[in-house]
Amino acid sequence: MAQNSKRIVLIGLDGMPYQLIRDLAENGVMPHTKSLIKSGVFKQMESSIPEISSVAWSSIITGGNPGQHGIFGFTDVPIHTYRLSFPNFNDLLMPPFWKHKGSGRSVIINVPFTYPAARLNGVLIAGFVALDLRRAVYPTSLLPVLDEMGYRIDVDANKAHQSIDLFLKDLDRTLQARIRAYRYLWDKEDWRTFMLVFTGTDRLAHFLWHAYEDKQHKHHAAFLNHLHQIDEIIGEITQKMDETDALIMLSDHGFERLENDVQINFFLSQEGFLRFKRTPPQSLADIDYGTTAFALEPARIYLNLEGKYPRGSVKPENKKSILNKLEAGLKSLEINGKKVIERICRKEEIYEGPQLDRAPDLVLLSSKGFNLKSGLKATRLFEKDIFTGKHSQKDAFLLINKPATDIIQERPSVYDIVGIMNKLRNKR
Ligand SMILES: [Zn+2]
Repeated sequence: MAQNSKRIVLIGLDGMPYQLIRDLAENGVMPHTKSLIKSGVFKQMESSIPEISSVAWSSIITGGNPGQHGIFGFTDVPIHTYRLSFPNFNDLLMPPFWKHKGSGRSVIINVPFTYPAARLNGVLIAGFVALDLRRAVYPTSLLPVLDEMGYRIDVDANKAHQSIDLFLKDLDRTLQARIRAYRYLWDKEDWRTFMLVFTGTDRLAHFLWHAYEDKQHKHHAAFLNHLHQIDEIIGEITQKMDETDALIMLSDHGFERLENDVQINFFLSQEGFLRFKRTPPQSLADIDYGTTAFALEPARIYLNLEGKYPRGSVKPENKKSILNKLEAGLKSLEINGKKVIERICRKEEIYEGPQLDRAPDLVLLSSKGFNLKSGLKATRLFEKDIFTGKHSQKDAFLLINKPATDIIQERPSVYDIVGIMNKLRNKR
């Protein structure tokens, strides 16, 4: 990389919808964001399919789609097994941008799905899912400093099941520690790329979306306050940036109100596509002969193909008719007269690359308000638990602090970020 290429700062707000950040910028909760919107480019952005953090952030940092980078969800089922596996950063098959030749020194803080931390030219503190802080940090010499700061990777979501007040306290403690870490590394490191992701935004939206929508709700102010604090940091960062530095702000997916959880494996077994050796099944290993399809979270459907899975029963010549039958069934799924599934994506439509064989055959996108899940032990098709917000695919956001309309797609997606970064670096 040329010495005179520009430095880039990325600020990620996990799960922040385009519409919400626009509203909060307008109504005074996020004034620094408002001035960035005014002087830069601000767009609605498409997430990955499925619209979950592991897939979306892997796409953001590599510029590849799941057929290329190989991350299809938080879980996977290796071919020839019914074993549920939990992929991590070691399974990412494309290099993140900070490994690109000549990318210079990078500071990467709290990007989801970068655990365990791997060596790089710079510093990395992994985001969730990270089981052990000692394996989440590179170089490990940073650990005592982070300990001193009370650094933590994620808010303890179990707290929300006990009490929302405890959860909010924990959310704030996690944010403050993250802020201390960013300030320290901003000054200490001579970086070319600085990336900082806030993930409390996603947790807040899962548990308190209803409190945002209801101005009278006792936690409404707390919801706004968390985002106001993040906006203060955005203001602080833009103050510290050099005139020539480029800033990219973005989210990995959007959010909307959750009305109902819908259990896809329950539907598949009800309709005769999925059979278990015992009820309730203990794991995928209980899948029985005669199964034609099963699903992994959130709504990835795999055909139980002969030769691909141990008790596979779908012959290649029957693949098409099973897919058609599945699609017809899923299309007719309704609750209170509302269609549950908005779009059924066949893998060839949404993925390409050498990992296509490992991809789910269908990925479902829900209609507004329906939260698709694929647990094995569900006893009802429709349920409702503690969450009041759910991910949405079409309304992530992208904000760039330069009037750089020439380098940004009319409808950008998470797959475009690496390309945009490269153009920003070399823009005069
Ligand atoms: Zn989430």
